[in-house]
Amino acid sequence: MKERILIVEDNPRNMRLIEMTLRAKGYTLLKATDGGEALDIAISERPDLIIIDIELPKISGLAVTRKLRETPEFRHIPIIAITAYAMKGDWEKAIGAGCDAYLPKPINTRELPGMIAAMLLQRQRDNIRHQWSNSGK
Ligand code: MN
Repeated sequence: MKERILIVEDNPRNMRLIEMTLRAKGYTLLKATDGGEALDIAISERPDLIIIDIELPKISGLAVTRKLRETPEFRHIPIIAITAYAMKGDWEKAIGAGCDAYLPKPINTRELPGMIAAMLLQRQRDNIRHQWSNSGK
C-alpha cells in the first residue's frame, strides 16, 4: 500500500505542482491550506509524511511542527519544510522547530520524489529496529 502524504501549502500553484509530482508516484495525498487545518487533518488522518510551507495563514508551519512534535504519535513522523528561497536562517528555524528536511522554493520537482522515498524508507527501518529492540524484553 502506498503511503499517505499531507501537503500543507497556501499557494495554489505550489500546491498543484507538489500534488502533480507526488500523484505521479502513486502516493495518496491529503491537503491543507492553513496551519489549523493542517493540525486537524494530521491528527484525524495520521499521514506517513508531512510537507509543510513555513509561511501559512493563522498558524505558521513552524508552530504546527512544534505542536506536532509535542505529541508522542508525531514525534518521529518525517516533516519536510518548504521555505522561501531567499530567506536566510529559514533552514535553522525549520530544524529548530523539529523539521527533518528543507525544500527551498522554487520547488525542485525532480529531487522531491527521491527525498520523500528516502525519508519514508528510513522511517520504515527505524520502525523495524524499534520492534526488534522491544521484542527482546
Ligand atoms: Mn505560504
